[in-house]
Amino acid sequence: MSTSKIALVTGGSRGLGRNMALSLARKGIDVILTYHRQQADADAVVAEIVALGQQAVALQLDAANVASFPAFYGQVAAALKSTYGTGQFDFLVNNAGTGLHAAFADTTEAQFDEVLNIHLKGPFFLTQQALPLLADGGRIINISSGLARFALPGSSAYAAMKGAMEVLTRYQAKELGARGIAVNTVAPGAIETDFGGGAVRDNAPLNAFVASQTALGRTGQPDDIGGVVAFLCTEEGRWVNAQRLEASGGMFI
Ligand code: NDP
Repeated sequence: MSTSKIALVTGGSRGLGRNMALSLARKGIDVILTYHRQQADADAVVAEIVALGQQAVALQLDAANVASFPAFYGQVAAALKSTYGTGQFDFLVNNAGTGLHAAFADTTEAQFDEVLNIHLKGPFFLTQQALPLLADGGRIINISSGLARFALPGSSAYAAMKGAMEVLTRYQAKELGARGIAVNTVAPGAIETDFGGGAVRDNAPLNAFVASQTALGRTGQPDDIGGVVAFLCTEEGRWVNAQRLEASGGMFI
């Protein structure tokens, strides 16, 4: 049986979620990470966490499919028992997500529903259904985006969902505070990952534009984000609640 605290990180197979999972493990926290399709990537992250001396399990999850959540939490409960010898986990990180680049005038209902399901409806009910398994005194971290503060063309539907998550964060903090659960938003700026087809990383003019609009003069890397999430899961982070923490190097200030 592990004595470490346990974090559930959605979308932990790649990009920011992978970095969060590894950063949590470096702080002595065990991890349940989810993947959507890239099981091999998820298994590689599990191996890296085990090499760091923590326990880890990878589970498949479609974060946009609310009907699948009861079965998913059945798997989480089974993993908690068999791997960690416990019935609860401590931290939920709602990170999984895909990008959408479409002008407001051209956004279709199907595109809108896609970002709605993965960036708002999914995390809403994934968190609701986590409540029986989430320990009192735990933490919830919702991953938003700099785009919920500043506006760039082509992100209206995506950013509106992230903005809604920021409002939801405050309501969750208000209602879950009685159980000692703190809820915060982490809002990354533009980070070089596979997100949005890897545009921030691979599109040189976009990369240069982001750097030029960032006070610290470069685009973000996954390593700029994971530690911020991990900090919020430490004892030192216990009094931070209902906040939006932007990690963007100072974009558009
Ligand atoms: P990546 O594309 O690098 O990784 C996406 C992750 O989400 C993968 O683990 C993927 O799993 C998983 N995923 C994708 N679709 C689903 C789904 N339907 N159900 C469950 N999991 C899914 O993205 P990032 O790491 O860059 O983004 C992570 C979060 O950060 C997102 O919420 C994004 O909106 C936010 N963000 C990203 C920014 C950036 O510039 N990169 C900036 C601001 C916010 P699999 O590997 O199996 O495909």
